[in-house]
Amino acid sequence: MENARREAVAQMTRKNQGNGLKSSAPKISDYFGCNVLGPETMKLLLPKDTYRKVQDAIERGKRFDLEVANTVASAMKTWAISKGATHYCHWFQPMTGATAEKHDSFIDPMGEGSVLEVFSGKQLVQAEPDASSFPSGGLRATFEARGYTAWDPTSPAFIMETPGGSTLCIPTIFVSYTGESLDTKTPLLRSIEVLNKAALDILKYFKSDVAKVFSTLGAEQEYFVIDREYYCRRPDLVLAERTLFGAPSPKGQQLEDHYFGSIKDRIFAFMTDAESELYKLGVPLKTRHNEVAPHQFECAPVFEEANVAVDHNQLVMDVLKRVAVRHKLAALLYEKPFAGINGSGKHNNWSLGTDTGKNLLTPGDTPHANLQFLIFLVSIIKAVYENALLLRASIASSGNDHRLGANEAPPAIMSVFLGAQLTKVLEDLEKGVTTKDTDQEWMTFGIDKIPTILRDNTDRNRTSPFAFTGNKFEFRAVGSSFNNALPIMVLNTIVASQLISTKKDIDTALKGKRQFKDAVIEVLRKYYKQSKGVCFEGNNYSVEWAAEAKKRGLPNVKTTPEALEGFVLKDSLKMFERLGVLSEVESHSRYYIKLEKYAKDIDIEAKLMAEMVYNQFIPAAVEYQNQLIKSIRGLKELLPNDGSLRAQTELLKEVSGHVEAAQRGVDVLRKALDAAEKTDDAKEKAMAYCHKVKPSFDPIRQAVDALEGLVPDNTWPMPKYREMLFLM
Ligand code: ADP
Ligand code: MG
Repeated sequence: MENARREAVAQMTRKNQGNGLKSSAPKISDYFGCNVLGPETMKLLLPKDTYRKVQDAIERGKRFDLEVANTVASAMKTWAISKGATHYCHWFQPMTGATAEKHDSFIDPMGEGSVLEVFSGKQLVQAEPDASSFPSGGLRATFEARGYTAWDPTSPAFIMETPGGSTLCIPTIFVSYTGESLDTKTPLLRSIEVLNKAALDILKYFKSDVAKVFSTLGAEQEYFVIDREYYCRRPDLVLAERTLFGAPSPKGQQLEDHYFGSIKDRIFAFMTDAESELYKLGVPLKTRHNEVAPHQFECAPVFEEANVAVDHNQLVMDVLKRVAVRHKLAALLYEKPFAGINGSGKHNNWSLGTDTGKNLLTPGDTPHANLQFLIFLVSIIKAVYENALLLRASIASSGNDHRLGANEAPPAIMSVFLGAQLTKVLEDLEKGVTTKDTDQEWMTFGIDKIPTILRDNTDRNRTSPFAFTGNKFEFRAVGSSFNNALPIMVLNTIVASQLISTKKDIDTALKGKRQFKDAVIEVLRKYYKQSKGVCFEGNNYSVEWAAEAKKRGLPNVKTTPEALEGFVLKDSLKMFERLGVLSEVESHSRYYIKLEKYAKDIDIEAKLMAEMVYNQFIPAAVEYQNQLIKSIRGLKELLPNDGSLRAQTELLKEVSGHVEAAQRGVDVLRKALDAAEKTDDAKEKAMAYCHKVKPSFDPIRQAVDALEGLVPDNTWPMPKYREMLFLM
């Protein structure tokens, strides 16, 4: 074999495609959640009184004393050890977007060389990891490294089993010594509470028996899987999680034959393995299928309370990556690993659930229920309209910039899709006319009765970033590698904030001693009129929409450094502070961390590009140049008038031209990189990386991709798109 790439390709035929047929798999219900310390298990393990106190903490946020913590810790330890765990860790979600864990063993020396397994209430409730290296966005200087993790009993502890051993993971929040949040979970939990209060206040109008409202989340997760041999031979995939080079494969996704296609055996084996790991962890995965792009897949769980759903999505990402390695595969969670074919997102299905089992975004069967539904619906529309840039900021990253607006994912313009029927309801509400559906009058003043068919009949719009799908919204613009805590926290907060204003406005309208229904209609009519500009039913990918959105004054921010401004708009800062979700300092820290992360992402890509050009591509091209030179010399000597002499000379010139262009491109890139590195201000730096460094990638890639089409197949060093995406 001539080179490593060819070796990798040859390996594929020798790959084990599974050991015969798996005749039976254990019944899922027999082992689902076996590695989770859920309420049922807790109940078995704890004295009644202690169990009740823990439930109080979970359901009502009540504090409990050290004695209770000690009892819980001891039970946890016994359970964990019975499951084979030797260590425990506080499992938290710092602002890197990933999860973090620092393992401690249970052992404590007992003297005379012996040890005993211990785990105290103190160790359960709080820890102080030496976590000075996490980004804090200026919240914490390295020399005062104290960050504390504190147990979050609302998300159950679990055992992470790996081939190397098992660890008890205790979900925690991560805060600084002075109480500022250093993670993504704390603000999420705060936003859940704020939304609960605001929604309950609305429900009071309806004399409901609901005691708790929470956001629900069902996160569909897209990802790619390729063979690990290829992955390891692509430094760009290893370091930047995306291919910085690569000529398009003649066959991409144009035949649309991958979507929902039959799943290859090797992928299937990987999927079922990952699923069973996740079932053990209590993640209720429900669907799996092939996605549109070759070797792209999706899985989705049954929705859960947002807090738990966020943790579960982090586990899904983690387990997909780990299990892929065991199958000699690589799971790519990045938003845009391959140019020219679809990228990956998360479709966040979001709604409002109640402790009485109701979904507040389900249209009702009675005028009364519909009024309630419309209050929530119109408030959400208004919240999105008024916080479009903040919502955009919550999904901004260098990876997602490749998707948003790339005509394959919802654009960078935040808009709301409602479907024809609901749009008509709201239009009629605005005009104050009776909504009629064919010959059947089913609604007066837009609210009396929304037909039940609406629930099942909402038309789909797969181009919308925020689409109503019958009884929930689907926030489709989130990137596949994201930690959902941030976008969901933003969504919860803007909706809570609006619900508080809605309540105030309804109360004011009611002062005129009007009927409740009339007061609500007056408020909703005004709201819809103000914010309907954010509603769009058409094709979000079209150029016409971009023009129309501009007319409507909707922000269309295509790149991250500008989008991140959404976090530090005066209104955003004030809203977060007022509701106690993020202090101004905390908001600023998120902004700076995201700016820095963006600059670092592009910096890595830039340096890697330069390296790959010199280490991989130029040597391959030069080898070919030498072959051509030798051949041309020979031809000149033997067949000076032969046509192929001219053809080969042209080819040599073409190859040399691309080599030169690549080199020139790297020179330009390095200059831009130098300038960007010298800037101090975080925003300026991110802008320099975005608008100076990143554009310099294109000519380099063009030159290299052109070389890929010219240089003999057996000298090309990197796995090609057609191999990574089709050969396994
Ligand atoms: P599609 O791809 O057609 O959108 P999927 O079945 O892949 O449908 O995903 C739908 C997701 O929406 C699932 O995760 C489902 O549990 C979730 N979902 C359904 N109802 C709700 C709800 N009330 N709140 C949040 N998520 C929900
Ligand atoms: Mg969906």
